[in-house]
Amino acid sequence: MGRIAHRVWIHLAGLMPGEIQSSEMIWLLSPRCHFSPLTRRRASMIVNRVRLFAFLFAVLTPLWSLVDYFVFPFPLWFALAALRLVTSGAFAALVLYASPSGSLAAAYRAMILLFIIPTAFFVVSHETLAAYELTGLSAAMGAGYAFLPFVLLAGLSIFPLTLAESLVMVSPMLVMQAMPGLLHWNTLDWAPFVGAFWLLLIISAVAILAGLSQLTFMMAMVRQAIRDPLTGAYSRRCGEEVMEVQFAQAGRTRSSLAVAFLDLDDFKSINDRHGHEAGDQALAGVAVAVMAELRRSDILCRWGGEEFIIVMPNTDLALATRALHRIRSQGLGLRPDGNGPLTVSIGIAEKWADDASDWNALVDIADRRMYRAKAGGRNRTIGHGGAREESPQGEARRRTGGPSAARSPRMEMDVADCVGSSQ
Ligand code: GH3
Ligand code: MG
Ligand code: MG
Repeated sequence: MGRIAHRVWIHLAGLMPGEIQSSEMIWLLSPRCHFSPLTRRRASMIVNRVRLFAFLFAVLTPLWSLVDYFVFPFPLWFALAALRLVTSGAFAALVLYASPSGSLAAAYRAMILLFIIPTAFFVVSHETLAAYELTGLSAAMGAGYAFLPFVLLAGLSIFPLTLAESLVMVSPMLVMQAMPGLLHWNTLDWAPFVGAFWLLLIISAVAILAGLSQLTFMMAMVRQAIRDPLTGAYSRRCGEEVMEVQFAQAGRTRSSLAVAFLDLDDFKSINDRHGHEAGDQALAGVAVAVMAELRRSDILCRWGGEEFIIVMPNTDLALATRALHRIRSQGLGLRPDGNGPLTVSIGIAEKWADDASDWNALVDIADRRMYRAKAGGRNRTIGHGGAREESPQGEARRRTGGPSAARSPRMEMDVADCVGSSQ
């Protein structure tokens, strides 16, 4: 039984779109756990689509007055033309007002306005048309106005929305469609009413699926764009985006934000002695080793050749220093000839402790400290105030009273001003 269930599950899993990874499935349900580069790109895409459609409607809505002119009597087509002009102005204002800032709240606002404008047009035009007894062609054209809710719901399919977002958008439209029928249930010609509502439900379901499919492709594209293919760490562009967002958020919520700048020691010699491919493998191994030790909220980015940064939200200097110590203690792998461990020099900076004015300044401070770690002999971490944390190997030697320069003046100094000597 268990085996059958397993096989059924494998077959069902095979039906899922190949672009999506199982850990990302939850991203289809709600935007709450989306990674910020996806949120920003999605928000910009939503706003751009809103602007495109608002522009098309701004142009097409008044043009339709020509058709109205030929099929409706004078006062009616004139009233509709005035309504169309106002609606077109509202769409034009939306084109000008909406800008792709990367903010999801702004994207929601733009999308809601895009739906509210035609809904208002629909309600007013419905009232206007109801005052006339239309026949023949004018009756047919008048009936066309009632299709607007269908067009609106189908229009949802152009947005890369999660299931929760789509349901929030669809529900008010379905309720609005159902309300008049439910209020006049006794006198209602219910067969066409139920038929129309059923059609609306089907269109909604198809639009939701289309939106989810767009989101799936978008997730795959963003995933490819934000990862460095060699190491699997996030790319520098993505890192810059994340830094910008996290820096602003730390400022708003007054929470700590630490950044560590890592540069591998003597890496050029690996390439020189063992070839570029061995260097590549070592780099990828370091990234895997670092990522294995990070919290879920920490972000590792490949900043350049053999340099990485780790963005650590809600982390003060002491916590960051401890985390980096743990990473170095676990080891980053061996040099390709097996002759000793791969080591790294690290500079750490923190937004509030270092009074950084922007995220660039924060990375610069961490970078400068990393250079001081190099100048101080490599394989070490330097944090706020130039305080140093000795290498894990050195610390181990000292603890075991090993034969190193454990009591040399330099080492004494290392221990004395070790950052957050809580390790
Ligand atoms: P230091 O301890 O002072 O940092 O010495 P280093 O040799 O690591 O520093 P340097 O900046 O002189 O050299 C960095 C080297 O990293 C040079 C370059 O060949 C190598 N490198 C950068 N990117 C890659 C890469 O993608 N693959 C490989 N194999 N090597 C890379
Ligand atoms: Mg370097
Ligand atoms: Mg280096």
